[in-house]
Amino acid sequence: MSISRLASSIKESPTLKLNEAARLLRAKGEPVIHLGVGEPKNKAPITAVLASAAKLRTGDIKYTPTDGLPSLKRAIIRYTEENYGRLVEPENIIVTTGAKQSLYNILFSIVNPQDEVMILAPYWVSYPEMVKMVYGVPVIVRPEDGTFQPRMEEVEQATSSYTRAIIVNSPNNPSGIIYSEDFIADLVDYCERNDIYLIMDDIYHKLVFDGKRAVPGYHYTDQDVENTRVLVVNGVSKVYGMTGARIGWTIASRRMVEVMNNVQSQVTSSPSIISQAAAEGALLGMQSVVENLRLTIQNNREVLMQEMRGFNDVRVVRPDGTFYAMVDFRAYTNDSTALANFFLEKALVVTVPGVEFGMEGYLRLSYAGATKDVIEGVERMKWALDPTAPNEIYIGDRKLIRDWL
Ligand code: PMP
Repeated sequence: MSISRLASSIKESPTLKLNEAARLLRAKGEPVIHLGVGEPKNKAPITAVLASAAKLRTGDIKYTPTDGLPSLKRAIIRYTEENYGRLVEPENIIVTTGAKQSLYNILFSIVNPQDEVMILAPYWVSYPEMVKMVYGVPVIVRPEDGTFQPRMEEVEQATSSYTRAIIVNSPNNPSGIIYSEDFIADLVDYCERNDIYLIMDDIYHKLVFDGKRAVPGYHYTDQDVENTRVLVVNGVSKVYGMTGARIGWTIASRRMVEVMNNVQSQVTSSPSIISQAAAEGALLGMQSVVENLRLTIQNNREVLMQEMRGFNDVRVVRPDGTFYAMVDFRAYTNDSTALANFFLEKALVVTVPGVEFGMEGYLRLSYAGATKDVIEGVERMKWALDPTAPNEIYIGDRKLIRDWL
């Protein structure tokens, strides 16, 4: 079989691959604990369910305008005004099939072959692959001080005449940290002055803890939406726990939206009308559902931090948001893939190797699932790494026996 060079260079999404591995093990009856999940376990808001059911009942399941239903756009305008303090026009919005498609269409619309796109480590697994998919060059910036907070000097040093864009995700998948306000302010200013697009992936922006806030990039520019270099990506996947609806959007200048619209019209046309109705229902419904989800996840974060306290030689930075934590296992090994495989095989716990996020020696743990899974998952990991622990543990009626260490 002959496959293009580009396609063969693209990796499978490791998180989706792990979901599949966990699903297969569960189907075989194995008591797997999935600390790799990238979605909350809540039910979709009832307003989303009713709105999509009502759309279905009309029987009019047709194409919508490529850039989204006008009524959904009105809901996004309201959301943007409330959460970003910006009044945008319908022509500044394009609705996409998940935030993923927004990111891909932006990159497709701005990157020429060999252009560079800066990505701050640790980063979400799909950014480098997406940049490669548009023949761009991902340039990874790693905080030299070993923290998760990059510094402006590092961004400046990584800039070249080919730099087209910087992708920022705060609160950050996988580290869970919110970048400092000073850093975002400097970054916005730097991008505006140097004609570099600042792609702000705000998909976790309301899942923040301890009264902290991820301040929108718009806050730091006095340019209007037609002229700013800040591009906003958001969606219903994480904040409303509606990953399967596949609805995201971009806020950008009219010209950028027009170009993205052309691209999208040739590839997928509009996102599904039923999902758009669901997203509209979520955005217009009671927003207490978001607060409830946030509180549940914050509580799980607390439980995880508590569990981690008893884990020798393992370090974790307290997450400010999202539902992930990046845990430093370098005291045990620098091979995160081998460690994740070890936990899966020996303790039936799914984790994601840090190397996938540009941080070798770490594992990303998700606390989006049930609280008891967070507790038991970490307990099993401790057991697997502790040579003084009992030789056997029972998981339900399944006995795990230590044949290592
Ligand atoms: N950005 C980040 C940082 C993510 O973690 C994810 C989902 N894992 C996405 C974008 C994609 O969101 P969607 O499911 O809406 O495509």
